[in-house]
Formats: sequence, C-alpha cells, structure tokens
Amino acid sequence: MNLPTSLEVKNGHLFCGGADCAALAEKFGTPLYVTDEVHIKENFRRYEAALKKYTPNVQLLYAAKANENPVILQTLAEEGAGADIFSAGELREALDAGISPEKLLFNGSSKTEEDLRTAVKLGIKISVDSVDELRLLDAITKELKKTAKIGFRVNPEIDVPTHPKIATGIKNSKFGIPAEMILDAYREALGMEYINPVGMHCHIGSQILETEPFKIACKVLMDTAAAVTALGVKLEFVDFGGGLGIPYHRKENPDRAPTPEEYAAAVTPVFVEACKNTGISPAFWVEPGRWMVGESTVLLTKVNSVKRVHKTFVNVDAGFNLLIRPAMYDSWHEVMAANKADLPDRELYTVTGPICETGDIIAADRMLPEICAKDIIAVLDAGAYGYAMSSQYNARPRCAEVLVNNGKAELMRRAETYEDMTAAVQIPSWHKKP
Ligand SMILES: *Cc1c(COP(=O)(O)O)cnc(C)c1O
Repeated sequence: MNLPTSLEVKNGHLFCGGADCAALAEKFGTPLYVTDEVHIKENFRRYEAALKKYTPNVQLLYAAKANENPVILQTLAEEGAGADIFSAGELREALDAGISPEKLLFNGSSKTEEDLRTAVKLGIKISVDSVDELRLLDAITKELKKTAKIGFRVNPEIDVPTHPKIATGIKNSKFGIPAEMILDAYREALGMEYINPVGMHCHIGSQILETEPFKIACKVLMDTAAAVTALGVKLEFVDFGGGLGIPYHRKENPDRAPTPEEYAAAVTPVFVEACKNTGISPAFWVEPGRWMVGESTVLLTKVNSVKRVHKTFVNVDAGFNLLIRPAMYDSWHEVMAANKADLPDRELYTVTGPICETGDIIAADRMLPEICAKDIIAVLDAGAYGYAMSSQYNARPRCAEVLVNNGKAELMRRAETYEDMTAAVQIPSWHKKP
C-alpha cells in the first residue's frame, strides 16, 4: 500500500501522526476520526510555496466545508490561510478560528438574504453567482449604506474528468454565470452605488487528477479578466477555486495525483503572462479543500461481526452516517486492519456499516488479512467530506474526533450523546402529558 505521509506501519500496527491507531481506538472508543495535524500544516506550506515560486501575491482560502472542525480551521488560520465559506455558519466558524475577514470569500449559488446582509455588515467579500443575487445585494447595500466588494463566479463551461456530482464548471452546472453573460454582469455592477466589483472567481470541480482542466479554466478566466479590465474594473483578486485531487486508490492501479508543484507549473505561468499582457496585478487566490485535509485523517471502526454467506461481510460500527462518500459518489477509500497492518492478505471482504440500508457499504471486495470481531479497520483518506458530511441517521450520535501531533493525541471533538441528538426536539402542546 502506497501510504500517505500521515501514516506508517510499525510493530504490526497502523500509526497516524505517530500514534498507534489500535491504542487510540481502545482509549477513545470507536468509531473515531483521527487527524494528523502536522500533515495539514505541511500541506499548507507546500501548496503556498509551490504557487509563490511563480507569483508573489498568493492567498490560499481553505474550503471550510471539507472539514470544518474549529481546531483544524485554527491550525490553518495560524498558517495564514483564508477561507472559502458557504454559509453564515461557516463564516462564523472562520472568524472564531481567527481567520481575518479580508481573507474570506462568501461563496454559493443560493445565499439567503440574511447571509448577504451579514456578509455586507462584516465587510466580507462576496462571490456573486447570478444577476438576480447582484440586484438583491444592491438593495441590501443601499439599505445599509455600506459598500460590498464582490467578484462574480464565472462558469468556464469546461468538462472535467471527475464524478458528475462534483463537476461544477460544466455547461449545465447550477454554479456560476456563463462567460457570454459575464460582461453584462460586471457592467451592471459598475453602475451600482455601493457595489465594488474587484474580483473574479471560478471552481471547476473536485477530485480532479489532471492539471490540464485547471490550466484551461485559468485561460478562460484571464481572458475574461482582460475584458472586464477594459470595462473599467480594477481586479484585486482572481480566484481559481479548489479541486486538486488526492490518490484514493493506493494499492492496485494506484492513482497518479498531480502535486501542488505540478498544479502551480501548469496554471500560474498562464496567470502571470495574462497579467503582464493586460497590465494588471490582482492577487492569485486558490481554494483547496480536499488536498489540504483529505489524507490527514483515518476513520477507525471496530468489527462487530464477520458474516460468511454468498460473500464475506465485515460488519463494522461506522457506516454512511459517518462517511457518506462511498454511498453518495461511489468513492473509493482504502481500508486496512489497523491492528494487523503487516499480516498478509488472506481473503476478499466487504466492509459494511451498521445503517439500515443496502447501500451502506464502505469498501466492497477488498483483500485483507484474516479479520475477526474486535479488529480495528482503518478507512484511509477520510479527512475531507467525512465528518463534515456526517449525519445522525438511524439515531446514531456522531463519533469523536482526535487530533494527533507527533504521537500526542487529544480529543478535538467529543462523541455526541443521545441527549445532544435530541436536544432540539419540541413537544407540541397536544402531545404533552398533563
Ligand atoms: C468545494 C469547493 C472548493 C473545494 O474543493 P476541493 O475539491 O475540496 O478542493 C473550493 N471552492 C468552492 C467554491 C467549492 O465549492
């Protein structure tokens, strides 16, 4: 197995961030998310350095939705990260984590009036996703007599080789404004009293394992940047979104994922050249989510039972309530026996969760060492869109999250209790017992 640098095998056990996963499972209970903090910091520094080699004015806006644990946001804030936020909740999380307001971009195709009002009041830049939204924002800024700095989300209309549910820059996507309508949008914005169009934004999709689509998107955006500059727009930033993939397939036919250095080599020269030709000097913004946190984390889950029928099922205590990606996107996650990490593969197993759904399969038909009840299965690369997309389906409280730093391990979120789960329940009067 081609392990990420957050993981290693020692004395027959899987270690994450220097901590023994089997011991963590014993100490904190399962299911359990375990995150290597050092890995995230190194990722941030590497991504930033790769881009700064080509252009000095770079800002990374971490895509908070990938993993919004406040401790992770704080870790990234300390490294200098901004954030791509999608709701008033994510805005608050980012500010609470210490991310400075100038480094935030409020994204989304369906922001509420309240979202927009909050963003304007706090002076947060907004990526406007439609002309209708622009007009709503115009009304809000007039009412508050406060200027909003905005960019438009451009739909570059390019096909990207990824799962259709996470391709966001294709022609029929719900996101962004098509290139042919974008000049009119900037023109309209320029005429508005309290709207200051200073940016441009795109995000073409997620889990992209080639650099070419990013390069094409960059060309489209920089052509558009030249056109809006001619209209009189003074661009302060061009934001190329996130989307760089990670190698989820690590065993047979491992994925070849581009590095940040390869991404930078493909994209930034297009940006630098276009800036020179147009005579502009906006900052280069990117919004990596998955790449920052995906490989940092394993989900540890205990085997309840092994069932040998038409195939051999390993019934574990984490399902799509905690990691929905396999069920939702047919995603692949490698699995390992954390307490038998150096034993030879023996048998084909299908790892299934405790949820009352046939689709609750974490990993189908995988070769593993001989598995029995109480073994600990580690689900790899669970740091992005894992806990963040979890639910309480089947009345299963969410599990705990542990942060590891050079072998030291502490909770960064305790497991939910039954009481947490039912805290918002209200009893209608006619159901109240006298
Ligand atoms: C989801 C999202 C990202 C992050 O995507 P990754 O594939 O996790 O890097 C960045 N920007 C926007 C607008 C997004 O919606």
